[in-house]
Amino acid sequence: MSGNTSPAETTRVHKLNNNDVNKAGTFVLYWMSNSLRSHYNYALAHASYLCEKYEMPLRVAHVFDAVAQDGKPLPERHAAFQLESLSDVQKDMHERNVPFVVINGSHKARDAVPALAEDAVAVVTDTSYLRKGRSDRHAVATALPIPLYAVEADVVVPVQTVSSKSEYAARTIRPKITRALKDYLVPMKNVELTNQTNCDLKRWVSSANPDLSLLTLEDLDESLKGMEGLDRGAPRVRFFKGGQEEAQKRLTTFLDEKLREYGGGRNEPAKQLQSDLSPYLRSGNISPVDIALHTKAKATKKASWKESEESFLEELIVRRELAVNACWFNADAYDVYEQIVPNFARESLALHKSDKRPKIFTYEELEAAVTEDPYWNAAQLEMVVKGKMHGYMRMYWVKRIIGWVEDPADAMDYAIRLNNRWELDAVDPNSYAGVIWCFGLHDRGWTERPIWGKVRYMNESGLKRKFNMPAYIAYVDKMVASEGLPRHIAELRKKHKMGGQQQTIDGSRKRLRSRKATSSSSKSGLRGSESKSVKRIKM
Ligand SMILES: Cc1cc2nc3c(=O)[nH]c(=O)nc-3n(C[C@H](O)[C@H](O)[C@H](O)COP(=O)(O)OP(=O)(O)OC[C@H]3O[C@@H](n4cnc5c(N)ncnc54)[C@H](O)[C@@H]3O)c2cc1C
Repeated sequence: MSGNTSPAETTRVHKLNNNDVNKAGTFVLYWMSNSLRSHYNYALAHASYLCEKYEMPLRVAHVFDAVAQDGKPLPERHAAFQLESLSDVQKDMHERNVPFVVINGSHKARDAVPALAEDAVAVVTDTSYLRKGRSDRHAVATALPIPLYAVEADVVVPVQTVSSKSEYAARTIRPKITRALKDYLVPMKNVELTNQTNCDLKRWVSSANPDLSLLTLEDLDESLKGMEGLDRGAPRVRFFKGGQEEAQKRLTTFLDEKLREYGGGRNEPAKQLQSDLSPYLRSGNISPVDIALHTKAKATKKASWKESEESFLEELIVRRELAVNACWFNADAYDVYEQIVPNFARESLALHKSDKRPKIFTYEELEAAVTEDPYWNAAQLEMVVKGKMHGYMRMYWVKRIIGWVEDPADAMDYAIRLNNRWELDAVDPNSYAGVIWCFGLHDRGWTERPIWGKVRYMNESGLKRKFNMPAYIAYVDKMVASEGLPRHIAELRKKHKMGGQQQTIDGSRKRLRSRKATSSSSKSGLRGSESKSVKRIKM
């Protein structure tokens, strides 16, 4: 990043306290919190800009947190993904002679960062849009005697540049984002680090605070095993390896093999045409600007890809940044049923609260996928085993939970907890906006019906009509057969006489075949049909 920062780059940067730089400092510290990458990282770029300005070397630190962004113990699968991500960063930092440390999870960032910054000129971090991340940053900003800059490294357009309020729906935020793209959807300047000097990492950390300990990334399995406080019930998954290298590979595969068909086929669960980039976006392994620019470059060459390009960028930019907007402007409310679910939906769900539900399931039963709905069970098990449920099934999954839990507030709570425990792309603003969309957020009222009231409804026959559901079940079945299930889930399924997964899925498949389920791969998914009347992003 050169000395001339563009307006777009400076509006990404927010100074979180009023302190002056420490002129006697000996380095600039980048507290890498959420954006676990060195490539295309605006926070790193800002840190390097300060290094150039003050003629200082850069140091980078991450404080591993065994508490997830929802305040719950970090699931083991998320911890593994983060370690893999950090290992990639470490490699690159090492090559660029940038001191990089990961502090063990028993220390909170609010204690560790000020200690590590004792001799720093200033500290830079990346922005969090969730409550815990925001509160950590404010605590660090208060504890530091020097500036703390938070840089919006993981969105295309900075949240407060887009809008000054919580937006009503995609249609209200879309024009605001679209207007800003000419300034923000532009290539990032290269980060140059010219003042690097050697640093004894152990000495730096122990002199900062003798209680701080370094997390080693040489043997990730060992490091993972030794971590305290993790949620071991949600074990590591094999299908996603964290890190910027893998993120770039996934992007290339998506552009080469899936983008062309994305517009028409992304909703079909068995086709798996989505990019699979959400876990990488969630952990900041890749920049949405980087993804969007590559997508545009790829699609420009092929006129027939326009629809796919537009619908992918609609999801990546408009829908994703609508979720960021919702969490940012509802910081204390985004997970509180009474405050975040729109009035029309809450009133209507309350009116229908006493409607008879054909079946009630507990949280544990839902987690173990013991319902009588084979599609729902498959979606739940896809999330458990793979770490990522297909996007279309996520909507169906929550809509069905509303019908199986007596109190809609509990239904929302169950969905958020399950989502955040098992999805590798959680905990993220999208986790909350996604679940709560199913309760009417950013949506409108629909024809009133029992249980769901005016909240948009989805049912099994819609899935059967539009998609090849037997193929989806077979896909999940195969994964479950090869990976097995976490013990507590397998045990509960046994108790419910679901038998092994094979038996259940095979049974479901037989039932499905006998119903002659159609296998049309419909273009008109729920959001697809919605998008016929709603404009897509045009760039
Ligand atoms: C109930 C429910 C829960 C969800 N939970 C999460 C979650 O925890 N984390 C998460 O990242 N997304 C969540 N989503 C949004 C969406 O389903 C996922 O982002 C998407 O399926 C991820 O797969 P992909 O990266 O292959 O998507 P692609 O279709 O390839 O899309 C590319 C990117 O666009 C963004 N995107 C796609 N669909 C949406 C959407 N509907 N809303 C906002 N952004 C979108 C994501 O960042 C995604 O990575 C949820 C949606 C629902 C309905």
